[in-house]
Amino acid sequence: MKRILFLCLFLPAFALSFGQQKKICISFDDLPVVSYGITDTLYQKELIFKLINSLTSKKIPAIGFVNEMKLYKKDSLNHFQIRLIENWVNNNLDLGNHTYSHPDYNSVTYDEYTRDIMKGGIISSKLLKTHGRELMYFRHPFLHVGNTKSKADSLEEFLKNNGYTVAPVTVDNEDYLFALAYKRALAKNDIELAKRIGTDYISYMEEKIIYYEQQTIELFGRNICQILLVHASALNSDYIGSLINMLGNRQYTFVSISEALKDPAYLTQVSVYGNWGISWIDKWAFSQGKKGDFFRNDPKTPDYIRELAE
Ligand SMILES: [Zn+2]
Repeated sequence: MKRILFLCLFLPAFALSFGQQKKICISFDDLPVVSYGITDTLYQKELIFKLINSLTSKKIPAIGFVNEMKLYKKDSLNHFQIRLIENWVNNNLDLGNHTYSHPDYNSVTYDEYTRDIMKGGIISSKLLKTHGRELMYFRHPFLHVGNTKSKADSLEEFLKNNGYTVAPVTVDNEDYLFALAYKRALAKNDIELAKRIGTDYISYMEEKIIYYEQQTIELFGRNICQILLVHASALNSDYIGSLINMLGNRQYTFVSISEALKDPAYLTQVSVYGNWGISWIDKWAFSQGKKGDFFRNDPKTPDYIRELAE
C-alpha cells in the first residue's frame, strides 16, 4: 500500500520533471560564411573563428550545412573557404549537405535538384572522413521540401537511398533579416544601431522559442526536442554567446542533431503540401487541420529591421 502511495505521490512529479527537460539542437545554414558580399578574407576568418570558439568553449554540439559552390573559385578549389569549414570539423562540429548552389526545389526539376545535392556533398564528406565521421544530414534550401506529395516523396526516397537523413527545423525565424540590417549598420559605422539590432535579435529569438514551445505543447502535450535554424552570419558570430545564454536561462540543454531526432515527434506525418518554407511544427499543425488562429501569437520581426534589410 505504502508503495502504491509512493508511486501515486511521486510518479506524476517525476513525469512532469522529465517532460520539462528542455533540449535544443543549434544548426547553422549557408556555411562557410554568409558575408553579404564582403570578400575580405580576414573578416570571413574572424566571423567563423568567433562562431567556432563560442560553440566549443561552451561545448555546444552544433551542425553547419554547407553550400559547396562557395568552396570553389570558378572551376578550381578555393582553399581558403575549405580551410574555414576544415576548422569547423577539426573542432568536432558536424557538417551537413545544403546542396551545391542553394537551388529552390519549387522552381527546378527533380533531376536538377538531385544532381545539385550529389555535387554538394563531395568536399564535406571527405573532411568528415578524415575524422572517421560521415556526412549524414541534409537541409533543404528555403526549407522547400516539395510542393506536392509526389515531389516531396520522390526527394525523400532519393535522400534515403543516398544515405541522407533530413534535418528538419522547428524554431524557424527571420535571423537573416536581422543579420542584413546588422551588416548595414556596421557598414555605416553606426555602432549604437548595431547594438540595438543585436539586443532586439536576442529578444525576438526568445519570443520565437516561447512561441514554438507553446505550439508543441498544444500539438504534443509536451515541449519536444527543438531544432533551431540560424545562419553563419556576422550577427550570429557576434551574438551566439548571448543566444546560448538566453537558451540556458530558459533551461535548455544543447544536443546534437542525431540526439534531437530521437524525439518521436519527428516521426509525425506531414500530409499537407505548399510552396511554403516553414517550421515542421507548422507543417504538423496544418496536417492536423489547425487554422490561422492557431498561429496568431507568432512573433513579428520589428518594422525597422524589415526597412533596414530592404
Ligand atoms: Zn540556406
